[in-house]
Amino acid sequence: MSEVDSTSKMTASDQLDDPAPSQLLRYLPDYQGVICTACQYAVQPHGILRHLKEIHHILRGRRRKYSHYVASLSLRDPKDVLPPKRADQFPVPYLPVEPGLQCLSPGCLYLCASVKRMQSHWRFEHRRRGNNDRDWHPVPLQTFFRGNLLRYFTHESFETSHIMSDLIEPYIDGFSANKLRAGLDSMYTALLDYYLRHTCQSFTTNEETDKVWRLIVPCLAHQNSFLLHGLLACTSLHRAYMSSGHPALEKEFLLRAYHHQDIALPQFRYAVQHPTDDNCNAILAYAYLLVVYTFAADRPEYSESGLSTDSLFLVNHSGEDAEAGSILRNWLYFLRAGCSMLCDFWEQLQEGPVRVLSEAWDIDLDDDPDRSCLKNLLSVIPDESAATSDISNASEASTIWTEEVKAIYRQAAIELSRSFAYVRAQRGFLTTWDILRIWPMEVSLEYMALLHQGYPGALILLAYYCILLKQMEKHWYFDGRAATLIRAIQKQLSTDWHSFIQEPLKVVLGEAGVEASLEGAQSSQAGVLSGCSMPDPPGLTFQSFVLP
Ligand SMILES: [Zn+2]
Ligand SMILES: [Zn+2]
Repeated sequence: MSEVDSTSKMTASDQLDDPAPSQLLRYLPDYQGVICTACQYAVQPHGILRHLKEIHHILRGRRRKYSHYVASLSLRDPKDVLPPKRADQFPVPYLPVEPGLQCLSPGCLYLCASVKRMQSHWRFEHRRRGNNDRDWHPVPLQTFFRGNLLRYFTHESFETSHIMSDLIEPYIDGFSANKLRAGLDSMYTALLDYYLRHTCQSFTTNEETDKVWRLIVPCLAHQNSFLLHGLLACTSLHRAYMSSGHPALEKEFLLRAYHHQDIALPQFRYAVQHPTDDNCNAILAYAYLLVVYTFAADRPEYSESGLSTDSLFLVNHSGEDAEAGSILRNWLYFLRAGCSMLCDFWEQLQEGPVRVLSEAWDIDLDDDPDRSCLKNLLSVIPDESAATSDISNASEASTIWTEEVKAIYRQAAIELSRSFAYVRAQRGFLTTWDILRIWPMEVSLEYMALLHQGYPGALILLAYYCILLKQMEKHWYFDGRAATLIRAIQKQLSTDWHSFIQEPLKVVLGEAGVEASLEGAQSSQAGVLSGCSMPDPPGLTFQSFVLP
């Protein structure tokens, strides 16, 4: 190959590999600045194209898309890019947090990165040798710019925590420990302390996941503010749960949880739409925390009115907890869609620090569904004569099994039966993520639409899925949810169909629970569809559904 050929080839492939402008140059609207995600510092507006040329060797022709992008942004002069004003805005995303020092001389507040520099600051500014124990203290530092525009800022209400350092230092190298300890004020510290002592253990299933939740996630949280707030939100909910019986305390932790989640979710949405090498691990970890948060916050006693919203777990009814254009609840939307949004980074995730979390997406469901389960689920489909007779009014039409509905139901039933086969094969070694992964992430959107409409067949399948969900009830964030869900299903399902959910009711609620539920249902729902011809109950025996 001649030299000319290899050069032109290299240029062509470089061009393909150029990162998207919004990925390389991350815009922070709050500060009206642009951060180069490769260099991890802000670039001044007039220096951006030169930065691309000199640091990243992106030559003239290939810079065009970047200059268009930059021209579309509103950017401030470096001297007007001000540090965050609120404590919860620190750390600023995409900028590294460094261990540093703050001068304690009244009114001074000088910041620097080394003891040597602090000592010379004391000699020149305060006219004496400073004392390491009294005259400055460690703080977390960030700076937007480097070089002669370098200007450190720190957390608004910073306090060093010895508890944190004692807890963390034995486990991770000094630099990470410093970074982690440095970014926290006392409020955060108390929560993070609780996370490390208690909450993170509730997410772990083995040595590897223990390492992820105890060590890696807290570190990622300090580079990705949505993950930090997501982690604090879940921990606050855990504390609220553990404060049950102390209403004032419980409420305080709930409010704190909402506060952190309100910060985390918009940032997470943004990140998931703009994934990078730097944030993809944090995005994956947050998707897990969102599941925990959603279930833990979804308690009837936590809602404003004190009434259960009867959420159907997978689909959203109130319109509050959903992405635009989706009927799926947030957690499920991100588990399903987030996976494809991250697909460019999937290889990296599988080799990265949180690879064990990505494994839940790689479960291969056995091709063979559980036969007896499938037979029973398919027997719910009415035969032709029953399905087509007496279509006389709109409310009945909503329960008619058209060919299309039958096909959707059949497919969803096959997938659910496969999940039962999978769960049985695992003999109880299942995590929360396995259980959420196996059916809710596989089943079709058409099924979700039927469920959203409250279609009987869709509700019946969900009732059977409750049998799998019951295994998660041992976790604090899922305590009682399978029972709440199956009661919500029973309430929505007209009594004519109740015979089909007797087995899941028995497994999830126990005999006594079923009888109590039945009495209530019969008095309120009897005769709603009395004129409609119904298939005979199949006399199901679902003993096989009782899982280890
Ligand atoms: Zn750069
Ligand atoms: Zn000073």
